[in-house]
Amino acid sequence: MIRQYELIDMVKAYDPELDEMLLNRAYVFSMKAHGMQKRASGDPYFSHPLEVAGILTEMQLDCDTIVTALLHDTIEDTVATYEQIEELFGVDIAKMVDGVTKLSELEYTSETSKQAENFRKFLLAMSNDIRVLLVKLADRLHNMRTLHHISKPEKRARISRETLDIYAPLAERIGMQEMMNELEDLSFPHVYPEAYESIMKRLDYLYANTENIRDEVINELEKIFAQNFLEAEVIGRRKHPYSIWKKITYRDVSLENQADLFAFRVIVDDVEDCYKALGVIHNVWQAVPGLLKDYISMPKPNGYQSIHTVVIGPQRKRIEVQIRSTEMDIIAEKGVAAHWRYKNDASKKDGVHYRWLQDLLEILEHAADPEEFLEHTKIAMYQNQVFCFTPKGELINLPAGSTVVDFAYAVHTKVGDTCVGGKVNGEPAQLKRKLSNGDQVEILTSKAQKPHQSWDKFVVTGKAKVAIRRYTRQQQKKEYIELGEEILKHSFEQEKREYTKKAITAAAKKMNLKGSGGVFEKVGNGEISDRSVLEIVFPSLKDSNASKSHGSIVLDNKRSHKAGDQHLPIKGLTPGLPVHISKCCHPLPGDRIIGIIATGKGIMVHTIDCQALDVYTETPELWLDLSWHPPENSAEIFVARVDLHLKHVTGALASVLAIVAQDEGNVSNVIFNERSADVFRIELDLEVRDVKHLTSIIAALRASKYVSSVERAFA
Ligand code: MN
Repeated sequence: MIRQYELIDMVKAYDPELDEMLLNRAYVFSMKAHGMQKRASGDPYFSHPLEVAGILTEMQLDCDTIVTALLHDTIEDTVATYEQIEELFGVDIAKMVDGVTKLSELEYTSETSKQAENFRKFLLAMSNDIRVLLVKLADRLHNMRTLHHISKPEKRARISRETLDIYAPLAERIGMQEMMNELEDLSFPHVYPEAYESIMKRLDYLYANTENIRDEVINELEKIFAQNFLEAEVIGRRKHPYSIWKKITYRDVSLENQADLFAFRVIVDDVEDCYKALGVIHNVWQAVPGLLKDYISMPKPNGYQSIHTVVIGPQRKRIEVQIRSTEMDIIAEKGVAAHWRYKNDASKKDGVHYRWLQDLLEILEHAADPEEFLEHTKIAMYQNQVFCFTPKGELINLPAGSTVVDFAYAVHTKVGDTCVGGKVNGEPAQLKRKLSNGDQVEILTSKAQKPHQSWDKFVVTGKAKVAIRRYTRQQQKKEYIELGEEILKHSFEQEKREYTKKAITAAAKKMNLKGSGGVFEKVGNGEISDRSVLEIVFPSLKDSNASKSHGSIVLDNKRSHKAGDQHLPIKGLTPGLPVHISKCCHPLPGDRIIGIIATGKGIMVHTIDCQALDVYTETPELWLDLSWHPPENSAEIFVARVDLHLKHVTGALASVLAIVAQDEGNVSNVIFNERSADVFRIELDLEVRDVKHLTSIIAALRASKYVSSVERAFA
């Protein structure tokens, strides 16, 4: 147990101007208040607040915080009152003790939702005075250190679970790495006893066979730094069991693959030397691409700074090295409070006395809402952002939820426009795959590729959205112009008049439109009818009442369905209007379908979730509710499109074609989108009877060892 004078000396060591009397009063008050109380260990209860105070002196906290630590259990567990403490120690300390007491009352719930709710109150209490949180964390740390004295395993598990869910993430959030690690490792065996046991067993075995590597790496690093006249301290320590377990669980890597059974740390004087050391290391050992993380130029939200790199070290083993300055090391391990003490030598504490509090508050302001925080701190550091890398190690910073396409557009608009797929950490990935922190992303492009309207559904960055929309608008405009011209040609022909572009250009002037293209576009999208253009060019037609039936011409061009649209097995059609199966969504029997009466086109059939319908939301009068006749009524064959990622091995495509044939489908077209060393992406047009038929083919394809993914394509 720490003695009274020892505690005073510990604080004095970093705060010479300490109010000794105040600390002494608190020591005696707490000792008397706890009196004969005992802890589960059999120790006097007073040993607990004393140890908590001791932990806080390691963080070099101010006298008021140490006093609060000594008093933190008096209101809750003894006859002492708030008023007494206020009278003896002042209102500031009384409020802090009260704050810790209130936090302790929030402890005894265990469902996740409840904890998150408590957590919110927790954050609120904290923002009054962050030192309350620090006392609470130290209190929890000491309780965890002495947890083995608690006899009931359920109670140990409950307290440990809470430590993992609430306190360890909090310690991390405010940049107290050392405390987080200790809290996690102390909780681990109680929350996941089996996992703990098997991991420790495995680690014992692995360390027995790798311990010599540690010395080799340290010796080698010390040697090369000396050769380069770089003063550096090299440390190699075992990684924390819980952090290894987290990695195995969340990143799905096996224990053997873990480069980081050891964490090597190189501590140098300043930032400049950090980069020098990095250069020296990369000069001797080959760096593993994409794993370099520069948290010096891009600090973590909790203030953490360091360079992380992974290299191929002695015996061709991957090793992780963290490079940082002494100052960064103190912040990382002990938090910002210790940092300010370090920086200011405790001598001229005026002005900087509470700067660290300010820093901590700023860190916390960046926290999102409690539920999300609770969820995310379990896995990742960042709430609203993901940091990804190009294969060259360039950092790309994206909002959370960003996909491969967002990444491609962030690299360059041209890359985005032509991307056909990607590789995330070397594995083939679909365009809509969401990215996580630290992912290395390689974008596969094809000159033949164009932005798809469907991408708009899953991209999140503004840059990607704007580019996709701009492209689809331009594309639509182009299509309208082509269509409009065809419609006009047709209707001139029907009236047996000569069609010339000159006539249309002249009409454009009269109609105040931009050239013939302006006229085509408006006719194509149905804003003006072909008839009205005809009447402007040939005013005499106005009086004739010929062919006014529908006011528009029906096109029979390549847009229409090949096999006799008039006989499609569809209910709800308007007699007399031609029907076309749209090529944007390839509707199949079994799909929920909608018809759109489009000027000059007749009825276009779309699936109900087709993006093309968005344009018509304001014009419900153009909508027809359609449905399919039962499939047995028809021998009709429809074309569906699927998007396929295949392993690039001999026989893969042949096997795909065989699978389709086996299921009585037919491949009518194969579009190669991208070929690379180990994957290729193709689009297949399949002739099928209906959705059920297509689904069964897709299921069969999915089962193939050659196919990494297959999905119905709607664009
Ligand atoms: Mn306590």
